Amino acid sequence: MTSHVFRVGNGHDSHRLADGGPLVLGGISVPHNRHSVGHSDADVLLHAITDAILGAAAEGDIGEWFPDTAEVNRGRCSSEMLLEVWTTIQQHGYSIVNLDCTVFAQRPKLGSHKLKIRQHIAELLKIEITQIGLKAKTGEHVGPIGHEEAIAAHCAVLLQRTDSLV
Ligand SMILES: [Zn+2]
Repeated sequence: MTSHVFRVGNGHDSHRLADGGPLVLGGISVPHNRHSVGHSDADVLLHAITDAILGAAAEGDIGEWFPDTAEVNRGRCSSEMLLEVWTTIQQHGYSIVNLDCTVFAQRPKLGSHKLKIRQHIAELLKIEITQIGLKAKTGEHVGPIGHEEAIAAHCAVLLQRTDSLV
């Protein structure tokens, strides 16, 4: 167990996109004509957040926690996986200072969905919405993201030792 008060983590994830919606992103269902493909529900944003938290605590990665060879993880809800991870990391003595996330997708426009996504993540992690930054970038119509073949997300998180809180 570390004696450091703060620990930073970062997570990255990407998924292939296929025809047919909706797009599961940040724990909500975004109306779209493409969906992300994966063993679980393929929620790229929640996977990046989960990996950022695990990285900050040096507790492995999402693939170790939820192997894609395990039948129990097939189609699994990523909110449930993030909650399981965060419950454990909390028990190990951490709280979240803030999350800063970026989604990389050519479409759909995420502006009108950002608030709902932040609200879902805040409720799930029991933090304030102001502790969650969410930004969206397009792929500038080039590469797998720009051609709508893939979606990606990045997340940075800062954890604080709970015993350092007064
Ligand atoms: Zn993923």
